[in-house]
Amino acid sequence: AEGVDEVHVALTADKQRRRMIAIGSGKGGVGKSTLAANLAVAMARRGRKVGLVDADIYGPSQQRLLKTEGQKPTASKEQLRPLQTESGVALLSMGNLVEQDRAIAWRGPMASGALGQLVDADWGETELLIVDLPPGTGDVQLTMIQKHKPDGAVIVSTPQDLALMDATRAMNLFNAADVPIVGFVENMAGYICPHCGEMSDPFGSGGAEAVANQIDVPFLGRIPLDIAIRLASDAGEPIASGDDVRGRAFDAIAGRLEA
Ligand code: ADP
Repeated sequence: AEGVDEVHVALTADKQRRRMIAIGSGKGGVGKSTLAANLAVAMARRGRKVGLVDADIYGPSQQRLLKTEGQKPTASKEQLRPLQTESGVALLSMGNLVEQDRAIAWRGPMASGALGQLVDADWGETELLIVDLPPGTGDVQLTMIQKHKPDGAVIVSTPQDLALMDATRAMNLFNAADVPIVGFVENMAGYICPHCGEMSDPFGSGGAEAVANQIDVPFLGRIPLDIAIRLASDAGEPIASGDDVRGRAFDAIAGRLEA
């Protein structure tokens, strides 16, 4: 029993040193996973020990974004041991635990249980744990926020009014659980034409910053809609992992998160 206690004390101490930041959005497809992957990679490049939990239990994507498809995490003492990605991030994603293309049809409690296994894994020396939340404000999000109590949340939104409205709802969810909002990120803000280089605003621009100012939440930065970002993600090499200048916007946000 003594040994068990020691393990428990060590785990608690580990957890206390570790900062957990959840990345949330009101709806899907706004670039939440893209931001989570690139922030994790940018932080790792800044010399931080970073872990990433893909909490999108029903639609995981980090196994693809961080090129670990087909790899399986091992387990020790009933705890999962994260995978190490090429870009220096420790990763746990449902996408590495279930067979690809098999739809996960779990009810809320099972999904919440699975999430617990990912968050309470053997994160070892990890100082910063980034959690890529599922979109919206359902069961898994609630469990995540209430039970695992992140130290802060970053909300990502496109400049569109609807996405902004949803983002505000996501923010209220964190507020209600006393999880501080670290800031807002506006994604797909402005489009740079790959042919002529001209900048246009398919979804408008500046909306997230305006809302952030209105409600007195820090604005962390803006990421343009850029095909290079998607191509890098699809190749499993997030843009922030290379030397492409277009990765710098993510590094700037990582810098503001570190501050
Ligand atoms: P979410 O996690 O919010 O559902 P994703 O990160 O999966 O959104 O992004 C949805 C799609 O949009 C992906 O194909 C991704 O590569 C692409 N994408 C995200 N952000 C950008 C961006 N700034 N520029 C270009 N494509 C992007």
